[in-house]
Amino acid sequence: MKLVKLKNIKIIGRIDNMDYDEKNDYYICKNGKKLFDNKIINRKSKTGYKSKITCYICKECRDCQYKSSCIKGNNSKIPLENRTKNLQVSKLFHEKRKENLKRIISPEGCQLRMNRSIQAEGAFAQLKQNMKFRRFLSRGKENVLSECIIVAIAHNISRLHNKIIKNKRGVYLHHLKEVF
Ligand code: SF4
Repeated sequence: MKLVKLKNIKIIGRIDNMDYDEKNDYYICKNGKKLFDNKIINRKSKTGYKSKITCYICKECRDCQYKSSCIKGNNSKIPLENRTKNLQVSKLFHEKRKENLKRIISPEGCQLRMNRSIQAEGAFAQLKQNMKFRRFLSRGKENVLSECIIVAIAHNISRLHNKIIKNKRGVYLHHLKEVF
């Protein structure tokens, strides 16, 4: 996540690297100029998903020193000096992404992510390394599925056995360790 963030810092034309004034609904670019909403486009994807896209435009790009790194689209027939920055934003998408990020970095989100990595990766390690299950013995979808189910049952019994021994029945999640 950190790497993506570092990479994005250089891409000044990205919406993620601009400040947003929620109250007045405009973005502020690297040059301190405002991008106001210009129009709304209703879009439909190939799969039929409908989205509402808000277009923001900056009207003060003329002599901007950051223009070449801010405005992309090198194949445009319009020369760069005549072009202006525009952003296409799905407000719903950004709203949902913000909500998701809030959930992901919350204490519960951190705990679930940590447990997910332990549980999913741990199960593969257990099956492949400890149970020596490296390849299917049968052929055909149904047989392979049956084998999967049998291996999963064996794994679950082994886990339950460990939990009973350690008196951890009913405990589903590992706790996050505090780092001071
Ligand atoms: S090109 Fe326009 S939007 Fe981009 S930094 Fe310059 S003034 Fe701002």
